[in-house]
Amino acid sequence: MLTLGAVINILFPSACPVCKNDSDGFLHAPFCASCWAKIEPYKGPACPVCGEPAVSGHASVCGHCIKNKQPFTKVFFYGIYDGVLKEAIHRFKFCGTRRLGNPLGAFLLQAVLERTTMQNIDCIVPVPMHKTGLIERGFNQTAALAAVISEKTGTPLLNNALVKNRITRPQYELDRDERQKNLKGAFSSSGTINGLRVLLVDDVVTTGATVRECAKTLRKKGAADVCIAALARSSVNASGPVLIRTDF
Ligand SMILES: [Zn+2]
Ligand SMILES: [Zn+2]
Repeated sequence: MLTLGAVINILFPSACPVCKNDSDGFLHAPFCASCWAKIEPYKGPACPVCGEPAVSGHASVCGHCIKNKQPFTKVFFYGIYDGVLKEAIHRFKFCGTRRLGNPLGAFLLQAVLERTTMQNIDCIVPVPMHKTGLIERGFNQTAALAAVISEKTGTPLLNNALVKNRITRPQYELDRDERQKNLKGAFSSSGTINGLRVLLVDDVVTTGATVRECAKTLRKKGAADVCIAALARSSVNASGPVLIRTDF
């Protein structure tokens, strides 16, 4: 007797990008079930504001957040940007595997609900793409993730509350300071979020430059509070260039 996964793989043959065996799970194909099960939430200490994982000890506010007041209250994230999670995000964003939006969105929802009740959130806003990038990719991956949270919690999704006005240099080429400058003034908001507590959704947070600039824009237009939900947190050398390419 064939399992459903086996039937799906006969109809739509695909190899797991991690172990190269046949994919056996239609929910997270092309990843096989055992590789997908390796995706784990981060349970270690992290800065309670920006989520920067701490090397050791108790979670305390990191040096960067002490020096710079953040325009957001908290970053909720699911896992570390590494291993199968990194590969899955890559497939989702750049290889057209849009169906991964649902299982990845479920991870994001779990990360949010473990740390807050949605009663503190009035609306969900995805980090926007510039229209040129949107045409090239065909979809905005953060909007797809945000849609999963909205659907499961009934919290309104405001897809157009934030707009990216210009094309910016890829963040991975830049160090922490340059990243912030690169995005300065890149976003605008219609102001539909006036007085609202916003959950801003991104896929990967590294230095936080993107979500910081988005949150600043939302606060300027009257958002009462901004929290960030991200699938993954990438490690960053505190003063030097970013070690992992995250935002192609
Ligand atoms: Zn596998
Ligand atoms: Zn911090």
